[in-house]
Amino acid sequence: MNDAVFDADLISRYGGQGPRYTSYPTAVQFGSEFNPADYEREVLLSNQDPIPGPLSIYVHIPFCHSLCYYCGCSKLVTRHPERAESYLQKLLEEVRLQGKLFDQDRKVGQLHMGGGTPTYFDNQQLERLMTGLSESFQLVGDGSQEYSIELDPRTVDAERLHRIADSGFNRISLGVQDFDEQVQKAINRVQPVELTLALIREAPATGIESVSVDLIYGLPLQTPDSFSRTLDIMIEARPDRLAIYSYAHMPRLFRAQRLIRSEDLPDPAMRLEILQLIVSRLTAAGYVYIGMDHFALPGDELCLAMKSGCLQRNFQGYSTRAGWDLIGMGSSAISKVGSCFSQHVKSVQQYNQSLDAGRLPVERGLMLSAEDHLRAELIQRIMCGGRLDYRQLDEEYSIDFRRKFATEIAALEKLDKDGLVELHADYLQVTGKGRFLLRSIAMVFDAYLQHGDNRKRFSKIV
Ligand code: SF4
Repeated sequence: MNDAVFDADLISRYGGQGPRYTSYPTAVQFGSEFNPADYEREVLLSNQDPIPGPLSIYVHIPFCHSLCYYCGCSKLVTRHPERAESYLQKLLEEVRLQGKLFDQDRKVGQLHMGGGTPTYFDNQQLERLMTGLSESFQLVGDGSQEYSIELDPRTVDAERLHRIADSGFNRISLGVQDFDEQVQKAINRVQPVELTLALIREAPATGIESVSVDLIYGLPLQTPDSFSRTLDIMIEARPDRLAIYSYAHMPRLFRAQRLIRSEDLPDPAMRLEILQLIVSRLTAAGYVYIGMDHFALPGDELCLAMKSGCLQRNFQGYSTRAGWDLIGMGSSAISKVGSCFSQHVKSVQQYNQSLDAGRLPVERGLMLSAEDHLRAELIQRIMCGGRLDYRQLDEEYSIDFRRKFATEIAALEKLDKDGLVELHADYLQVTGKGRFLLRSIAMVFDAYLQHGDNRKRFSKIV
């Protein structure tokens, strides 16, 4: 990968709306004709693979104590902990159902708990969930595993962090967004700095190997000065990874965002200024820009994977492991098994009803065609390696790349002229400037966008 070069003019010209490509095709293509039998058939086929690969598991815990106004996640804000208990019972039922489908010798190399707020579950509930998972799947504890959980620092103290690590997690990601008090009030997420710092300090003593912090830029009342103070705190605390997302204000799509006053949002020029500040401050402090919204310390696995060309992209963003069958459990969770994507019902009530009836709560999905697989691979290589080697692709996919993608190559000529990519006879290389606009480049190979899909469904690139 070329070193990233920040070009404000290019970013403002190309930073329109587009998918984040945590999957291709994106979830908007999933349809209701897909059903649980399709999913089960794909699982069976994946088990029959001569060398069935390891598994990755995602568990969705949708509950939250209060509503953050910027939130676009699938969540349920409730003060009734009994709802979490009845959900847990159904979740354990799903773990058993899914466990019966998969070969028992397939190890779970990756596990991620997200939400919502996974720590809405108390310690005992989390431990029961981990026990349930270990009874139905082959969890590993030899250090090769990547088991992570999203933590809301308002719900976890140092003592609880030890319990969480003891139950099998070796990675945590902390939801922060911004440390500025005015911004926190405007987004209804008041979270004293010390809560977050205490967890970062305590993590090494618990056996947690990697700490990631999520921030968001583009929030109401943010300014370059205010966000600079948030960055000061982070640079001093030095978590292994920082994911700094661009706030997507889409109040028509996300009701919670209607509580944010649009006049409080930084304008596009200020957003760009904040992004530039993020890049310059973090790189000066020794963080490496991975791509999209991710920064990591040089010794972190993500950084090493990027250097060795093994970086991958999955539903959690950048990762060192992907391509494994992913089992999504819980309401709204997405699975990717064999040649299919499968998504569960979003409502907790429907989720519970489906499991009461002994059915997997599959609501929609997609069978990938050979064309989808090929384009997914091209997009993955652009997003993770910044390069397409045409001859290599010709051999791997028995195609004539230049002929098959003549239209896309022609479309890329403009991007070449503008300095986002370099087009050579046998390969395409993303330039340093293009690294901030990976999704604009990847979009050229997205057949669904070419066929008139509505880009307005997606967030802004910057
Ligand atoms: S941002 Fe996280 S904690 Fe806040 S409402 Fe959304 S899911 Fe819940």
